[in-house]
Amino acid sequence: MKITESKLYRDKCYINGEWIEADSRETISVNNPANLEEIGTVPKCETAETKRAIEAANEAWPEWRAKSARQRSDILRKWFNLMIDNKEELAQIMTIEQGKPINESRGEIGYGASFVEWFSEEAKRIYGDTIPDPLTDRRIIVLKQPVGVVASITPWNFPNAMITRKCAPALAVGCPVVIKPASQTPFSALALAVLAEKAGFPKGTLNVITGKASAIGDELASNPIVRKLSFTGSTEIGKILLQKCAGTVKKVSMELGGHAPFIVFDDANIDDAVTGAMQSKFRNTGQTCVCANRIYVQEKVHEEFCKKFVDAVSKMKVGDGLNEENSSGPMIDEHSLSKVEEHVEDAVALGAKVAIGGSKHSLGLNFYQPTILTEVTPQAKITTEETFGPVAPVYKFKDEKEVIDLANNSPYGLASYFYSRDIGRIWRVSEALEYGMVGVNTGLTSKAEAPFGGIKESGLGREGSKYGIDDFIEIKYVNMCGLDK
Ligand code: NAP
Repeated sequence: MKITESKLYRDKCYINGEWIEADSRETISVNNPANLEEIGTVPKCETAETKRAIEAANEAWPEWRAKSARQRSDILRKWFNLMIDNKEELAQIMTIEQGKPINESRGEIGYGASFVEWFSEEAKRIYGDTIPDPLTDRRIIVLKQPVGVVASITPWNFPNAMITRKCAPALAVGCPVVIKPASQTPFSALALAVLAEKAGFPKGTLNVITGKASAIGDELASNPIVRKLSFTGSTEIGKILLQKCAGTVKKVSMELGGHAPFIVFDDANIDDAVTGAMQSKFRNTGQTCVCANRIYVQEKVHEEFCKKFVDAVSKMKVGDGLNEENSSGPMIDEHSLSKVEEHVEDAVALGAKVAIGGSKHSLGLNFYQPTILTEVTPQAKITTEETFGPVAPVYKFKDEKEVIDLANNSPYGLASYFYSRDIGRIWRVSEALEYGMVGVNTGLTSKAEAPFGGIKESGLGREGSKYGIDDFIEIKYVNMCGLDK
């Protein structure tokens, strides 16, 4: 499919129910990472257009919040149904602009849609409270109300789901949204807006603005009308936005970088551990915030695990994600590829052994070989920095205490994983890992029903689950007095 032929293709921003160009008429070029060809352009908006999007959202707010929970739920449900009906087309758009294998794109559309479905249901369950007052003539009532205009800034690695995971709960509780997608994957976001328009969201309720990140981001973070900023991306940009949001004391959610430990104890089922490591490490060509970054394997099973892991990696097929046979796509760009090369070269210079891969793929362009490194040293950059690529560093450890200390020795605290069949150990290690998410005997933990999020420098707040709604709500307390008169 040519992306421009899709009925979901738009090369304009969606503000106040209209498809608009940038005031300057300037555009940003978007390329297919599998062949570097330009697939289209999007408007290069800046501050003025962002202000208009925020004002449109603010104007839409009274009508949207005044709708009944059921009415909002029905519109979200329609949006969900449209996503499912258009799954294949959305997946094709995603693979063309992002590069991930088409089956993974289909999986992401299902995953992204599941947040819309989940929060269409949660929309009806925003319960308040009544609390006994110490005095008999009074009552304490707790109301939950929408926070107001929500800004959402999202990354390129999950071009669909990172948007729905923020916007569905915001819209469900009655907040309008302004979405700024990543410049490398704007077409998935604009396709979502096409479907939102069809689903019947009133104009101004959902806006998508593309363009210059710093200008748009500054306005979203500093404009007092925006009451909540929800960001997914790098810890570096997250910290900048946190500082900028301080100026207007906005609510913030931050889904930032990670450095996940993946531990294989000697009582684990090794075949399951290999399957989990493959899923956790190599999904999306290693470009996820929850990818295994350090694979710790206990001495006794180290050799067996490495042998089976190398065997599994040797079966991976690298290439254009549109080809159904390929299980690994390109890296998003040259810059990301260089970081992977740098991490591998540095680890090898410090003593690591290349068990498989270890260099660019013969396909050239942005392709890198799925790689396993063993005997990686603590000093290697890969041990502490997020690689964001298809490289699995494997470390050997002796006992539980040692590996927990190693695993927790990171400023990040997003996802962690371990494999064990010992129930005592499973409890001990689950409680000891300083991470927002722990996968026990699994390499995949993300789902709409579960609270996704990190601690330490991996972020603030939770997305998905019943907790995902809290970040878009203000609690108002009403003290009703004089009830005895
Ligand atoms: P990024 O560079 O931080 O970009 C994320 C978003 O922020 C993009 O929309 C980007 O726009 C925008 N941005 C860049 N500079 C900005 C600025 N000065 N002000 C406001 N916005 C700005 O991250 P990325 O490289 O796209 O994504 C990879 C990172 O995201 C990794 O660290 C990964 O771990 C993290 N991530 C975390 C989660 C999670 O849930 N915790 C999920 C996925 C990814 P442009 O594209 O226009 O530059």
